[in-house]
Amino acid sequence: MGLDDIRRRITAAEEKAGRAPGSVTLIAVSKVQPDDRVTAVLDQGQRVFGENYVQEAQGKWPGWRDRWPGVQLHMIGPLQSNKAKVAVGLFDAIHTLDRTSLARKLAQAVEAQGHAPELFVQVNTGDEPQKAGILADELPGFLEQVRAMGLNPQGLMCIPPESEDPAPHFRLLRRLAEDAGLTGLSMGMSADFEAAIAEGATHVRVGSAIFGARDYAAKP
Ligand SMILES: *Cc1c(COP(=O)(O)O)cnc(C)c1O
Repeated sequence: MGLDDIRRRITAAEEKAGRAPGSVTLIAVSKVQPDDRVTAVLDQGQRVFGENYVQEAQGKWPGWRDRWPGVQLHMIGPLQSNKAKVAVGLFDAIHTLDRTSLARKLAQAVEAQGHAPELFVQVNTGDEPQKAGILADELPGFLEQVRAMGLNPQGLMCIPPESEDPAPHFRLLRRLAEDAGLTGLSMGMSADFEAAIAEGATHVRVGSAIFGARDYAAKP
């Protein structure tokens, strides 16, 4: 547990998979964590962070960005269309592009603000009715639509079903990305990031294994 341990495990997983050292970006998922845990990890040199809630990120990151230059902020939670404008201003990457209505709002915000975050399309690899994400079959059509809006997604993201072996889902995401000509693969969390690296993850999203368990009751 802890940042150093996770970094070591990522390096080992890269090596085991025959991948170049540093080819995997660690996104430290700081949602709902107490401030002192996050600032400790900033002090250790980590600069790439993931957040799930626009309002929470908006509250804490502008000040921290002033104190620790070079922070890269990734939005990894569900994004409401009415927050698209704020999200484009705040985040360097958005991993949860999952519908055309959101794409339309993002495209407007990108146009208005003159810069675009890196975009990942969330794919519902397990075909789960309650889960966000584009179905695998519908991905090519969706990409065509969002590209026509002027957006340029660079990768895919998935959250495999909780009760299943994640590896087949990671493999599916990789194949879908290859077919679509996309290079980014946002997959793997605390419990399965090594499996994701073995299957080609370029971005792993690790929260509790770095910061400890989240206490949702303690946060607004
Ligand atoms: C919270 C969250 C994570 C981090 O989960 P851990 O199990 O704490 O590593 C990763 N990805 C998404 C989309 C999340 O919402």
